[in-house]
Amino acid sequence: MPEEKKKIMTTDAGRPVGDNQNSLTVGPRGPVVFEDFLLFEKMAHFNRERIPERVVHAKGSGAHGHFVCTNAEITKYTTAKLFNAVGKKTPTFIRFSTVGGEKGSADTARDPRGFALKFYTEEGNWDMTGNNTPVFFIRDPLKFGDFIHTQKRDPQTNLKSPTMMWDFWSLSPESLHQVTILFSDRGTPDGYRHMNGYSSHTFSLINAKNELFYVKWHCKTKQGIKNFFREQAGALEGTDPDYSQRDLFHAIAKGDFPKWRVSVQIMPEKEAETYHINPFDLTKVWPHKDYPLHEVGELELNRNPENYFAEVEQAAFEPRNVVPGMGFSPDKMLQARLISYPDAHRYRLGVNYDSLPVNKPQCPYHTYNKDGAMRFDGNGGSAVSYEPNSFGGPTQDRSYVERPHALSGTVARHDHRLDSDYYTQPGNLFRLMPADARQRLIDNIVSSLGNGVPQRIQELQLQHFYKADPAYGKGVAKGLGLNIESVIAKAKQASAAD
Ligand code: NDP
Repeated sequence: MPEEKKKIMTTDAGRPVGDNQNSLTVGPRGPVVFEDFLLFEKMAHFNRERIPERVVHAKGSGAHGHFVCTNAEITKYTTAKLFNAVGKKTPTFIRFSTVGGEKGSADTARDPRGFALKFYTEEGNWDMTGNNTPVFFIRDPLKFGDFIHTQKRDPQTNLKSPTMMWDFWSLSPESLHQVTILFSDRGTPDGYRHMNGYSSHTFSLINAKNELFYVKWHCKTKQGIKNFFREQAGALEGTDPDYSQRDLFHAIAKGDFPKWRVSVQIMPEKEAETYHINPFDLTKVWPHKDYPLHEVGELELNRNPENYFAEVEQAAFEPRNVVPGMGFSPDKMLQARLISYPDAHRYRLGVNYDSLPVNKPQCPYHTYNKDGAMRFDGNGGSAVSYEPNSFGGPTQDRSYVERPHALSGTVARHDHRLDSDYYTQPGNLFRLMPADARQRLIDNIVSSLGNGVPQRIQELQLQHFYKADPAYGKGVAKGLGLNIESVIAKAKQASAAD
């Protein structure tokens, strides 16, 4: 092997540096002079090293990998090219994260986990901005900012506040399903490798006959589900706040590549009109007995990022990134995320965020979008910058036009609480848990709801638990030292008096 030529350090402008140890000073005791371009370049760059952290999902870990299609059945439902042959490999990048905490917060916090995937397909990027839970706390995007404020810090004390959280949840009963998952063992997963990922939202697939199917994506861990108990997770918050980052990085570094089985639930378009559950309600799942999982492929993570900032911090996922053969659904939360994700990236990374190496497509791409702050690629060179043109610039191809779909209804601020069944699915989840897991769920709730939350909020929330399953309400009431019968009787009296 020829010996690599020794590299000489330079300034950002390429001037070789003669001394990177000593500032330029008047005499050995100083002061420094303005003409020390090296000192001021280093200091100025350092002052600007941080970009705004994500408002949510600030603490994260990422990895490269690939998706392999394992089942040809999926071609009955979509023309998306990543599925068109068994064994076909598509490169991927994933970013896992916690949600509410800041960039330096602990990995083992009780919180949902982000599960954001980018598939670099031959017809553009497909992003699945999933979570490790199949549902969410709210179902109308107008409430998103309010909800997230309850997960952040109190405006005065600058402390996290169980009162804010339970106040909002108790007044938003549609949150009960996600709250039940959050306080179950799965609210504190053992790192990122031992948890599932879900698209949560309903998306659509479109096949060669132009038929549409609504779908929900599920990525089931092949490492097996593993969670921490509350005490273990709490201890790790202090002793190893970067637990999940370490676990993922080291597993991949030693060749122990984590894998997920990727499956899909499929609902033909017509069935969505009559199915007894609103299939576009993000607080509900589609029960497996009605919509079983169809295996589609396998996801493997097998390469650590070379540079955390370039690849993980600058990664930008957006649910609007779907490829031909895929589409969206009327889910209101999804519709708002289609707009808000690219909007957040433009603020955080700048308008050219999608040209950064980790975000740009790995297939040829030709757009007429130009210029903008920090245009760091060739900006299209001398190519024509408008369309139509007579200079051979890229043109549309009608075969890729979106499938038309009819919409009807009155434009109004429709009450999203018209469906008031907040309780069946959280109750089903409670009932499927073994007795010891139910008890831990109850204990986890009590440790939070009993942490300085006013009794009137506790009582309102207890009614929700009780309606999901009397044993659920009873258990939490007992842990709080309250009597569930009198809480329910008091609530009945109050509603009769209304
Ligand atoms: P099933 O018995 O077919 O499915 C139960 C599901 O519950 C499995 O996917 C299982 O995941 C998951 N599960 C088990 N423990 C927990 C937990 N602590 N937190 C979250 N999920 C858990 O029944 P249904 O499809 O009728 O669903 C029953 C309930 O299960 C739902 O109300 C919902 O709360 C929950 N669930 C349902 C999902 C769905 O898509 N239908 C997906 C995830 C949860 P695993 O197989 O990995 O153990």
